[in-house]
Formats: sequence, structure tokens, C-alpha cells
Amino acid sequence: MSTSHPRGLYLLFATEMWERFSYYGNRALLALFMISALSFDKQFTAALYGQYTGLVYLSPLIGGYVADRFWGNRRSILVGGALMAAGQFTLFLAGSFYTRLELAIPLFYCGLGLIIAGNGFFKPNISSMVGQLYSAHDSRKDAAYTIFYMGINLGSFMAPLVCGTLGDTGNPADFRWGFLAAGVGMLLSLLVFRTLQHRYLHAPDGAPIGLPPRRLSAEEKQRVDTSLTTVDLDRMLVIGVVCFFVIFFWSAFEQAGVSLTFLASESTDRTLFGWTMPTAWFQSLNPVFVLLFAPLLAQLWSVLARKNREPASPTKMAIGLLLLSAGFLVIAVGVQQIAPGVKMSMLWLVAMYWLHTLGELCLSPIGLSLVNKLAPAKFASLLMAVWFLANAAANWFAGVLAGFYPEAGKPAPVFLGWQIGNLADFFMLFVVMALVAGALLLLLTGALQKRMHGVR
Ligand code: GLN
Repeated sequence: MSTSHPRGLYLLFATEMWERFSYYGNRALLALFMISALSFDKQFTAALYGQYTGLVYLSPLIGGYVADRFWGNRRSILVGGALMAAGQFTLFLAGSFYTRLELAIPLFYCGLGLIIAGNGFFKPNISSMVGQLYSAHDSRKDAAYTIFYMGINLGSFMAPLVCGTLGDTGNPADFRWGFLAAGVGMLLSLLVFRTLQHRYLHAPDGAPIGLPPRRLSAEEKQRVDTSLTTVDLDRMLVIGVVCFFVIFFWSAFEQAGVSLTFLASESTDRTLFGWTMPTAWFQSLNPVFVLLFAPLLAQLWSVLARKNREPASPTKMAIGLLLLSAGFLVIAVGVQQIAPGVKMSMLWLVAMYWLHTLGELCLSPIGLSLVNKLAPAKFASLLMAVWFLANAAANWFAGVLAGFYPEAGKPAPVFLGWQIGNLADFFMLFVVMALVAGALLLLLTGALQKRMHGVR
């Protein structure tokens, strides 16, 4: 592995990889478990799933605040990880008692609650620690977050393969083994972090990072509380604006789990040499593409940086939105192949996921890095949580938008005066939304950069 990054990065990489393994391993089973083991109907399952993923990204506001104010990142990560492991083991119990719903259902809610709370403490804090390994204006931060992002996706890639295979066997009694594996993954994350934190988590000057904030004297407190400068405020404004645009990215991107899954399962030819590929496998395309292309993109940024031509972060993020739009355009063209008895080739979906992933790599690790660079140190984790708040809103909005998916025999839905008569119309909605958002962000980059005061 490259020696040009601090070792602490690889510790955070491994910690986050196992945590995401746990989170996505669980998520791969959740809807199936609700339907086949708990006998929830589809509509209730979809609503609960949306509320759960929404809350998972909302709770970081509390976890970020507590860390910045009282606990520091390290303790928050350990508490959050323990809560998430407890949540997975509670779901293991729910899965063990699935024949006794009066027991299984309360256990199920309890498990989800623990995971929501745990993620709130874990996710913003691990994400904000990555940047703290570097000095304020170190140009390696974008690359660092891109490497960290590969850890996320290595975990997300393995998760459905392991937890999905163990849990989704057709026998509802087996779900628990998937949840158990997710719990074990979380314990591994905790173990790695706990044993190695003291050795590797320090700033370039050698000072440990992620400890609780120092207690201030009353006099110091007053000075600090009033010490947000106009530069800080400008930079926080930029975080707010960028997070707003990011809502449009994720609400289109997250169609992967809803409308794009409907498309894959109902209208896509999934046969490959006489064998039918499971719909769920399309979910692995994104992490695989991240693993393949993240190093390439990191390379591209550093080559451009050497020539002094690296785009600033808001520009990269706008490019991300445009790539997302292009991906949906591919699908809007692809679905026109569909006719009675004719399905769409899966190559269209593969091409779309490739473009979406390139867009994600321009926007997501870059956004994490940008928030880290712009946030005043004492609000580092809280502002990271604001980034995830955009995800909470986006996941909810994604569900609303997916509701416009046209169904045969039902009247064409209308969105803002746009009649959605067929699948091409539906996917054009996302082409336009991402294009407009990307173009607007591109127009704003000059103004934003001025308010970033030297951060890129
Ligand atoms: N897949 C990434 C993760 O789990 C990004 C998720 C997101 O920000 N929506 O961290």
C-alpha cells in the first residue's frame, strides 16, 4: 500500500470497512425479512424501510454534536459501534423467534432503533477523523477520502455476498444467520479500532486526535463561543449550499434500491449464457465500480493538481451531478427498447451504474473532504452530520419520486405539470433534475469559491 498517507488512514479504512459490511449486510436482508419472516405487506415494508434509512442519516446530528461538545470522536465511535453490534444481535434474536411474532416484532424494532442510534455516533465521527490526520490545507485530503471510500465499498461489496448468502436461503429461519454475521462484522470493526487507535491516530504534529475537547475555563469559554469569524461563517454557508445540491444527487442515485430495481426485475433481460442473474446482483455493480475506478480518479486529480489544473471541489461535485444525469439519459434511451414481449438489455443498466459511480466518486468522497476542510474544528463532526442530513432528506425524497414510476393499467402520474406516460418520461425526470442541479452548481462555483477563502 502507498506509504504517502499516514497509517491512521488505513486503520480508519479497516474500521469503516467492517462497519459498512455490517450495515449493508443487514440492509440487504431487511426488506426480505420484513416480508417473509414478519409477514409485513409490501407497502408497509417500503415505508418502514424509507423511515429507517432516513433516520440512520438523521441521527448523526446528535452523534456529531455530542462528539464535538463532550466525548470526542474516539469514544463516540466506540459507543456507536457497540450500539450497532447490539442492534444486529437483537435482530438475530428477532430472527430466532420469527415464529412468535409477539416477541419477534418488538425485538425487530428495538434492533433497528439501536442501529439508528449507533450509526449516529459512528458515521459522522469516523468520517471527520479521516481529515484530522492531515494538516488543515494538505492537498492529499481528497485522495485520502477517496481511499477511505474504497474501504466503505469493499465492505458494501462483501456484505450482500456473505450476509445475503447466509440469510436469504428461502427458509425464514435462516435470516438470523445473516444478522449474526453482520453483528460479528461490527465486532471486528470495534476490535480493530480499539486495539490500534492509540498507535495510529495522531495529527501530523504527533498530537493524538479524536479525544474529548479540553475543558475550558469560564473566561476561555466566552472567548471561544464568540470566536466564529466571518471566514468561518462564509465557509459554513458553503457547506449548507453544497449539502442542498447533494440532496438532488442522492435522491436520484438512491433510485437504485427502488425504481431501478423494479426496472431490473421486471423489464430487463437478465439471462447470461442461459442463466438468469438475480436482480439483487445489480446492487454489487456500484461497489465494484467504486473499487475499480476510485484509484483512477484519485490519480487523475493528482495529475491535474501537478499541472495546476485540478478543478475545485464544487466544480467536481457539479461534474458528479452531470455524470448522474448522463447515466439516467442512457436508461431513458434504453427503456425505449421495451415492448410487449421485449425486455431491455442489461448492458444499459451496467453502463448507467458505471456513469453513476463515476459521478458518485466526483461528489461523495470529495464532499466529505470539502466539509472537513471548511468546518471550524470545534464543529467538525456536527457539520459532517449536516452532510449526512442531506442524505436523510434525499432518501425520503427518493421514495416520493419513485412513487411516480408508471404502472401498466394505471393513469399516468403528473409531476410538476409533467405527465409521466411511460418509463422514458419517468427517467427523463432524473435527467432533467440532475442536469439543472449540476448546471446551477457550476454557475455558483465562482461565488462559492470566494466564500471558501482559499480552501479548494
Ligand atoms: N455508500 C456510501 C456510504 O455508505 C455513501 C452513502 C451516502 O452518503 N449516501 O457511506
